[in-house]
Amino acid sequence: MTYDVVIIGAGPGGIFSAYELVKKKPELKVAVFESGNELKKRNCPIDGEKVKNCIHCATCAIMNGFGGAGAFSDGKYNITNDFGGTLHAYIGKKKAIELMEYVDELNVKYGGEGTKMYSTAGTKFKKTCMQNKLTLLEASVRHLGTDINYIVLENIYDELKDKVDFFFRTPVQSVERTKDGYRIITEQGATEGRQCIISVGRSGSKWMEKVCADLEIPTKSNRVDLGVRVEIPAVIFEDITDELYESKIVYRTEKFEDDVRTFCMNPNGIVVNENTNGIITVNGHSFEDASKKTENTNFALLVAKHFSEPFKDSNGYGESIARLSNMLGGGVIVQRFGDLERGRRSTHKRIEEGNVRPTLSATPGDLSLVLPKRILDGIIEMIYALDKIAPGVANDDTLLYGVEVKFYNMEVELDDHLETRHKGLFVIGDGSGVTHSLSHASASGVYVADHIIEEMGSK
Ligand SMILES: Cc1cc2nc3c(=O)[nH]c(=O)nc-3n(C[C@H](O)[C@H](O)[C@H](O)COP(=O)(O)OP(=O)(O)OC[C@H]3O[C@@H](n4cnc5c(N)ncnc54)[C@H](O)[C@@H]3O)c2cc1C
Repeated sequence: MTYDVVIIGAGPGGIFSAYELVKKKPELKVAVFESGNELKKRNCPIDGEKVKNCIHCATCAIMNGFGGAGAFSDGKYNITNDFGGTLHAYIGKKKAIELMEYVDELNVKYGGEGTKMYSTAGTKFKKTCMQNKLTLLEASVRHLGTDINYIVLENIYDELKDKVDFFFRTPVQSVERTKDGYRIITEQGATEGRQCIISVGRSGSKWMEKVCADLEIPTKSNRVDLGVRVEIPAVIFEDITDELYESKIVYRTEKFEDDVRTFCMNPNGIVVNENTNGIITVNGHSFEDASKKTENTNFALLVAKHFSEPFKDSNGYGESIARLSNMLGGGVIVQRFGDLERGRRSTHKRIEEGNVRPTLSATPGDLSLVLPKRILDGIIEMIYALDKIAPGVANDDTLLYGVEVKFYNMEVELDDHLETRHKGLFVIGDGSGVTHSLSHASASGVYVADHIIEEMGSK
């Protein structure tokens, strides 16, 4: 069977490519290969009781399958060129925003119609931040919430399932060039496509490196972000979260002039474990459904590290630090801010006596034994800076979970159509190193699909 377009990976990048291709050119034969399951079969066995830790399933239900890494995410679609990737550097700022807005229209159409769009435009917090040496980045954000995000994915899948050939639990082993296009090898055999879009996300990073090596596509190392997840009573941050929902705030530290930034804010949300290649790190969620809301808000504080010479493996560095926290804590470590400041570990008793009820069961410990001093000093400085715009952030009982790590794929060399040096082979989404968010990954999928259609029309 030869397809017009073969897509590898059914995360937001792959889904929106497939959607755009069959919507704009229904006669196209499109196949999507995905190593994980279809959406309704994505069930993580960790239930906190019988199964407490990762049992390393053949395919990780959280990271792999229809919807990709974003399927159980908080579904925050940020419409901005200020963060979430550098798509604009390839396709221009205007085009990038247009495509993110288009993706937003689709999300609304497929189930997100009751959800709210927040914006930093005209907010008083911009000035308040400036007065306290903090910078509020510009963005609009559609918050779907984990529950509505799932419904949107379900509806898009229903729309696509009869128009696109989906092959779930079918990891692609390798990609070969043929005379007319590309051959995709899986355990089930070979499939050919005239064009090929690779959208394998973070979980496909090692595989992507191999494909680039096999096909001699140049790559560059990327950064890693390291830090902690902060959990506070929601009331402390509610003036900001009620108006903006998600605010990306950057602080330049006085001591080292490093940038520390907030990331992934979850008002009334929960802190969760995240599993990357068997290493347990921390993340956060929140729900639109009022019955699932908690009394706490959580967000990450992260510092970026980028290694180049002679050591290039920024992700390896991040993994080692996360492994160290797993070694000391058996998983994620939690510490009260007051204990960190006093140079002592937290204990179950101290946490129970505090006034913030942890939403994740983590091991009380000492984050100063895990995070490098420079990173931890920056985080502590930022907590005091945030305390000025939201008094209470620097309270003793504020909980810090560690470590939070944001890994980025190496950057694949691409032209301004996100095409590799091989004609008809495109790399999009987080797997390309160009994007690292739902909206940028989705927009990159639409962009490449539109380009393929345009090229077909011109022949
Ligand atoms: C817990 C969590 C919460 C998040 N919350 C947000 C948020 O609120 N807002 C936001 O903007 N971003 C969020 N993100 C990031 C966001 O999910 C990603 O940026 C986005 O999913 C990237 O989309 P993608 O299509 O590039 O890759 P992915 O979503 O990672 O999808 C790639 C797919 O490719 C498949 N694959 C990999 N290798 C192969 C192979 N060899 N063969 C076949 N298939 C393969 C994988 O199984 C996967 O399903 C979150 C991430 C996580 C983990």
